[in-house]
Amino acid sequence: MSKPSVQVVEIGRFEFREMPVQPPGDDEVLICVAVTGLCRTDLKIVRVGHRDLVLPRVPGEEVVGTVEALGRRVEGLAVGERVYVYPGVWCGRCPACRAGAENLCREMQIMGFHRDGGFGPHVTVPAKSVIPLPDGLANDEAVLAEPLSCVLNALELGRLQTGETIGIWGAGPAGTLLARAARALGARPVNIEPDRRRRELVGGRETPGEERFDVAVVAVGAPDAYRAALAHLAPRGRLVVFSGLPPADDRPAVSFNQLHYLEQTLVGAYGCSYRHGQDALELIADGRVPVGDMISHRLPLKRLDEALTLVEERAGMKILLDPWQED
Ligand SMILES: [Zn+2]
Repeated sequence: MSKPSVQVVEIGRFEFREMPVQPPGDDEVLICVAVTGLCRTDLKIVRVGHRDLVLPRVPGEEVVGTVEALGRRVEGLAVGERVYVYPGVWCGRCPACRAGAENLCREMQIMGFHRDGGFGPHVTVPAKSVIPLPDGLANDEAVLAEPLSCVLNALELGRLQTGETIGIWGAGPAGTLLARAARALGARPVNIEPDRRRRELVGGRETPGEERFDVAVVAVGAPDAYRAALAHLAPRGRLVVFSGLPPADDRPAVSFNQLHYLEQTLVGAYGCSYRHGQDALELIADGRVPVGDMISHRLPLKRLDEALTLVEERAGMKILLDPWQED
């Protein structure tokens, strides 16, 4: 017996649909989805649209499940194995791929954006995108490897070093993971978050005070946060542009003289590479980045609308969806 998938048919409207389960192609794997993570990007995808979205689409880029069938040419994976899915499909030949930045591949296909994702009982993915779960790692925790991977990419691009200070604007799921990953790397994170409820797990402060940070990461889509982060950047500091801005707010507010005299760097970060998925799973599995306490809701997929409202109102922390759960 199968279950319906969520299909976004137009921006602002999705339907529950039973989708036919296709046998995997030669180099593909059919995965029975155990759990899928919901994030702010999904809210964008369903309600306002996204640069990389192609409709109609089954969203869901944070997927953990069990291998159900293998394509003819697939080796090294077994039916029944629990896996995490790196959400990108990359060419492996272009300059970005050769530099280890598959997320910038010129032929990048993102699960849930260009290809159907995990908001359904099954998803078909290329075998090379799949990473087996470390033993003992729970499915629900493994899902957070996707947002953690994006965080690791951001910290890498920000060249965060042991002992450095890092100011993180926002204390939602991404801001919390940024702080925990930074601490695992031996850095000293401070989250800047006006909402006291959001600071509950990670601590932090309402305002940055007088402090200047070696690295600043903005994990809220607000131009004011970018202005504040730039104002609190130390000499030789690196500002990581981690959150996109609504197009109407995308105004440069940068003093190039400040960058010049203080030798500061602005660097963008978007998504993650395959190797970040491997690192993220290890960090979660061995407890260096704890994530269990971040899961605030676990809902049946059929309650997606309610889950999206929780994300919109910032009422939860990490929300997981289960396509098989009844109520
Ligand atoms: Zn490529």
